[in-house]
Amino acid sequence: MRRPFVAGNWKMNLDLPSARALVSELRTRLPAAPPIDVAICPSSVYLFPMARAIADSPIRLGAQNCYPEKSGAFTGEISPQMIKETGCTYVILGHSERRHTIGPKGPDGRVAGESDEMVAAKCRAVLAAGMIPIVCVGETLEERDKGRAEDVLTRQLAGSLAGVDPAASMDIVIAYEPVWAIGTGRNATPEQAQEAHRHIRGRLAERFGRDAAERMRIQYGGSVKPDNALTLMKCPDVDGALVGGASLKAADFAAIIDGCIQARCH
Ligand code: PEP
Repeated sequence: MRRPFVAGNWKMNLDLPSARALVSELRTRLPAAPPIDVAICPSSVYLFPMARAIADSPIRLGAQNCYPEKSGAFTGEISPQMIKETGCTYVILGHSERRHTIGPKGPDGRVAGESDEMVAAKCRAVLAAGMIPIVCVGETLEERDKGRAEDVLTRQLAGSLAGVDPAASMDIVIAYEPVWAIGTGRNATPEQAQEAHRHIRGRLAERFGRDAAERMRIQYGGSVKPDNALTLMKCPDVDGALVGGASLKAADFAAIIDGCIQARCH
């Protein structure tokens, strides 16, 4: 039985007082011992204060990125070991904004963002540091419209998990985040989500074996809101959610967590 997992990706949002207020309200809204895992992923400069804010609560901490080296001349970057020191359990890797929005533009106007190869290096480094990577994959609208969604997922999974020790596979969380659903208010239908998650689990089974794949958690991300969380989380291969916008409001994030508990734990 996979333990469901809901994480909030705060992206580059909130100032410190609002982050503290959000956690404080969230703590009052969550059950003392929820039957699912819950995490917040604030900006890296807020990891230490947020670690204090969530102390003695069921909320765990995640970072939004890292650099895959232990130390060295990498100005502006943060190593997995540094992130671990803040008290993080999770690190989000290969988010679509890092793959498609952040980075220099090529001659065709497209952003040459983070590659699968870089995501894989980060994934191995996060595992080596004793944390859980949340590896994001997902197709663009153009790729879906061309009928290439499954091929893209297959390629991203193979590339982003390259070189990962199969013994560590069960410590990896995959987040299926169709790019066209992120921050757009347009979520995948439960049928689309289930189809993609089933495909992902099939590829994980080929890579790590059926038993490991059945135990690995696959979150859905992309405009998850209180009113769609329950139906999405009822899909048999959807093991929780990676939530962006709605994680910035305690009431909405708590309602999504509640939807996940209703769908998966009753
Ligand atoms: C995300 O940023 O991972 C995300 C899913 O965002 P949103 O929920 O706002 O679509």
